[in-house]
Amino acid sequence: MRGTLFILGLIALGVALQKGIIDIPRHWTPWAPLYVDDPITPVTQLKLKRLNDDRAACLAALDTVPEDELRYTPLADYTPTASCPLTNVVRMQSSSVRFNQSFVASCPLALAWVMYERHALQPAAQAIMGSRVAQVNHVGSFACRNVYGRDTGRRSEHATADALDVVGFQFEDGRQISLINDWDDANNAGKFLRAARDGACDTFGNVLGPEYNAAHADHFHLGMRGFRLCR
Ligand SMILES: [Zn+2]
Repeated sequence: MRGTLFILGLIALGVALQKGIIDIPRHWTPWAPLYVDDPITPVTQLKLKRLNDDRAACLAALDTVPEDELRYTPLADYTPTASCPLTNVVRMQSSSVRFNQSFVASCPLALAWVMYERHALQPAAQAIMGSRVAQVNHVGSFACRNVYGRDTGRRSEHATADALDVVGFQFEDGRQISLINDWDDANNAGKFLRAARDGACDTFGNVLGPEYNAAHADHFHLGMRGFRLCR
């Protein structure tokens, strides 16, 4: 009896959703298009994963960023290094921040980055440092290698340009901080770096930093694999 009621309830819910009687917001609907200004929810990472195989929808989502806040170039699929073909990738030139160097990113990684920046990084910078981030320093996104550069084992996310390694930030007021120098800072710089890491967990599949292991003492690894793995 209870089972029947439950099933009837589900059917009623389905009908209500279909008829628009109940309106689920776009950012809670896995199949709705992604807009970078939408609030980040647990569904956001699902949407980003779906865009892996849908270049057109992914570029459309990137184009929801105002034009003066993102400069990127879609790239045709290519194989920069034998055994590491790249598909659905863009070159990121700048966003609301400059980068020390432009970089190749899978389209979902680029999208995760701009969402992270808008919803977590810049708000944290303003709240804690009293100044927005002007430049992000990174040490690369693409590297045709296995995890930790081992000879065998799993391919790194970097082999598909699905991760960015961030080493530091420069603020609009000129201050500069880096993970290697400021992670242990007891004041605002350290507090900001922790907020920057924690905020990344909502958009990236995995976020590894100094508290994970020695290999990450000097950078945040922001990758698309996994779901809210945050260390
Ligand atoms: Zn990395």
